[in-house]
Amino acid sequence: AFARKNPRSSGASSSARRLPVGVRKPSLRIVVTGGAGFVGSHLVDKLLARGDSVIVVDNFFTGRKDNVAHHLGNPRFELIRHDVVEPILLEVDQIYHLACPASPVHYKFNPIKTIKTNVMGTLNMLGLAKRVGARFLLTSTSEVYGDPLEHPQKESYWGHVNPIGVRSCYDEGKRTAETLTMDYHRGAGVEVRIARIFNTYGPRMCLDDGRVVSNFVAQALRKQPMTVYGDGKQTRSFQYVSDLVDGLVTLMESDHIGPFNLGNPGEFTMLELAQVVKETIDPGASVEFKPNTADDPHMRKPDISKAKSLLNWEPQVSLKQGLPRMVSDFQKRIMDEK
Ligand code: NAD
Ligand code: UDP
Ligand code: UDP
Repeated sequence: AFARKNPRSSGASSSARRLPVGVRKPSLRIVVTGGAGFVGSHLVDKLLARGDSVIVVDNFFTGRKDNVAHHLGNPRFELIRHDVVEPILLEVDQIYHLACPASPVHYKFNPIKTIKTNVMGTLNMLGLAKRVGARFLLTSTSEVYGDPLEHPQKESYWGHVNPIGVRSCYDEGKRTAETLTMDYHRGAGVEVRIARIFNTYGPRMCLDDGRVVSNFVAQALRKQPMTVYGDGKQTRSFQYVSDLVDGLVTLMESDHIGPFNLGNPGEFTMLELAQVVKETIDPGASVEFKPNTADDPHMRKPDISKAKSLLNWEPQVSLKQGLPRMVSDFQKRIMDEK
């Protein structure tokens, strides 16, 4: 519907990446949807620190102004309360599209809203990318693999997903978002990037977010038993947020579309995770078994050889190194609650 009008689109930005040594790269105008959330706010920190201008678009469903409050006086920073389900006009060079609740508790809270966010929200951001010639990065998820029959999961695996279950608003929503992204690329020439993110943890996660790392850490700090769902033998791989943010920026700046798995290949059962949290926070911490939720994937571990070889990226922070950095942030916020 709209003609491209951004002179710094595709061609211009790829030649900008090959500037001669000593010539400063012009700073970019970047929108981060979901930038007031956990991952988004760390990404915003990195983009501002490198000298770019950042517009955060967020409806504050699971995000908090507090996460970006330290940038409010910065002339290169702008915060817009907006729901991506509605169209928006902006002039930017890059779009990091993160807006979507990520924790099962949050995305199941209003499943219709979750799928609208994934479908209509992604459509609007792709429409925006097309109009202004911006490069678009989708934060997809390891949940596109569903309850996987292949282990570890490679990007070539098509997944094992229930289309009518309680998680479908999220995993089928993200699968549709990937489809839209590729169709805008093939059909409208939009420059796109797709990251499939595996479980990530770190400072600024919501305390009541329901995800396993935030639950165990908050529970151990509050001297409550850590709630293990099911038999605790299901596995996940936990990535520290700075590794993810490095991966997202590397992917955006690369010449590769993806999809790329971004995750830490270290694999833990929930009982092993509880043990690490116990060693980190409180040797007296106990566990309590609770019934598991429907459609819970039995195991998950990324094969990251594609990102290693094409992006030269791999995680640097182990669970034992990352956990204490998150604990000090949680400790402060739990104290503030009192
Ligand atoms: P988060 O819930 O902390 O952040 C999501 C942000 O999006 C929040 O600030 C929220 O207010 C905002 N948002 C939600 N719906 C919106 C809407 N309709 N319009 C505008 N803003 C909206 O979650 P996160 O962990 O930071 O996840 C960020 C992205 O990464 C999500 O797209 C998520 O699917 C993806 N991801 C995260 C993980 C993880 O382990 N953290 C794993 C896989 C994928
Ligand atoms: N859109 C937007 N901002 C823009 C351009 C488009 O929010 O700067 C929305 C637009 O309202 C539409 C969607 O993105 O709902 C897809 O736009 P596109 O131009 O691809 O489709 P069309 O408008 O032709 O249906
Ligand atoms: N889980 C748990 N205790 C909790 C929260 C979650 O044992 O308090 C389990 C959950 O059943 C799942 C795993 O931890 O097997 C990861 O759940 P999370 O919600 O963090 O993310 P998911 O990978 O399911 O999106």
